Amino acid sequence: MEENGKIGEGTCKCPYCDQELALCADLPVTCQPCSIAFVICSACGGPVREGSVTCPTCGAKP
Ligand SMILES: [Zn+2]
Ligand SMILES: [Zn+2]
Repeated sequence: MEENGKIGEGTCKCPYCDQELALCADLPVTCQPCSIAFVICSACGGPVREGSVTCPTCGAKP
């Protein structure tokens, strides 16, 4: 069991508008309100804007 308070399996939320995105496993996914495509951050597993240099969630390079 690993419970670190991280994002649970299932849905991710857009870090910009808190819109729920599709399943993390289905990334890349596009946030409809923002029209932004997201990919998975390899550091924290959260959504990162496609083409972004740093992850808005953890600040690491995705
Ligand atoms: Zn959004
Ligand atoms: Zn991250």
